[in-house]
Amino acid sequence: MADIIQLLPDHVANQIAAGEVVQRPASVVKELVENAIDAGSSSIKLVVKDGGKTLIQVIDNGVGMSHTDARLSFERHATSKIRSAEDLFQLNTKGFRGEALASIAAIAHVEMNTRQETEELGTQIRIEGGKLVSQEVTTTPEGTSISVKNLFFNIPARRNFLKSNQVELRHIIDEFQRVALAHPGVHFEMYHNGNELFALPVSNLRPRIVHIFGTKTNEKLVPVEENTEVVKISGFIGKPQFAKKSRGEQFFFVNNRFIKSPYLHHAILSAFEGLIKEQTYPSYFLYLEVDPTTIDINIHPTKTEIKFDDEHTLYAILRSAVKHSLGQFNIAPVLDFER
Ligand code: ADP
Ligand code: MG
Repeated sequence: MADIIQLLPDHVANQIAAGEVVQRPASVVKELVENAIDAGSSSIKLVVKDGGKTLIQVIDNGVGMSHTDARLSFERHATSKIRSAEDLFQLNTKGFRGEALASIAAIAHVEMNTRQETEELGTQIRIEGGKLVSQEVTTTPEGTSISVKNLFFNIPARRNFLKSNQVELRHIIDEFQRVALAHPGVHFEMYHNGNELFALPVSNLRPRIVHIFGTKTNEKLVPVEENTEVVKISGFIGKPQFAKKSRGEQFFFVNNRFIKSPYLHHAILSAFEGLIKEQTYPSYFLYLEVDPTTIDINIHPTKTEIKFDDEHTLYAILRSAVKHSLGQFNIAPVLDFER
């Protein structure tokens, strides 16, 4: 019998991997903005057209890339962020898989302009469907600008599955807000079809929340602060009377990374028990700092789920911290009286 197994060509492997990393335009936004953060940017601009279907562009003022790195950055498993498996247990960057740019370039038309501070000239690279179109020396501002056009142009089934521009934009805004909330010390701007949607100056957390969610938010916020061996908690919860029927203002960040955790969400709800109506949700913006060796963020490609060594303890500490804040601000007695 003849041998029939072959290694897939890189661009095919990348296209398959892309299916996991890039679900929709918002996934591209998340990856590009996180790269900009990892590059130490103090200012990040996001430009989107037609819900991201036509254009997603991220412009940063971070460290930029050398000519060689600019090309390498689009290779699969090419990363400057980890060097060994041990590094996985003490990550201080958002990225580490070295998959995002390769995946995105496999399924879109990508142009990158990048320059390092020390260089006079930068690099422009164009890649379409995983194939290098051109690489040239160019004049470009310090930092990196990546534009991603015609997402899923070579996967019609995926492209047809995208929702309306409005819905895709909503997902993009969600991702944008998550990163902006995780990094109040970074200046962010966002534009859609030429309209400015957000302009967020460098600030602390409370003004950042208010800039994003509106001036009325300010009076709703109650600080949460807790310091234990296991976890350091900071941030804000919304007062119970402002709980809403719709979800949307619930944010957990673990070591500055937005995560989804139904379990920890439950800890918050249980702290609010008796203070809010059923089927309503309190707002929260909570930042947990834990020893990086006690979490595993490698369990999901988009890294929004993580595994904690000791979830139960975390649950208890979080619940009691929130209860404490609610009590301290004299919220509980008033509402008990009303009931
Ligand atoms: P990862 O972020 O997991 O390393 P990516 O595919 O997202 O993988 O990026 C590959 C590499 O390209 C990064 O490790 C980094 O060195 C470089 N890179 C990507 N985006 C930027 C950027 N905006 N500024 C500077 N370097 C970048
Ligand atoms: Mg990345």
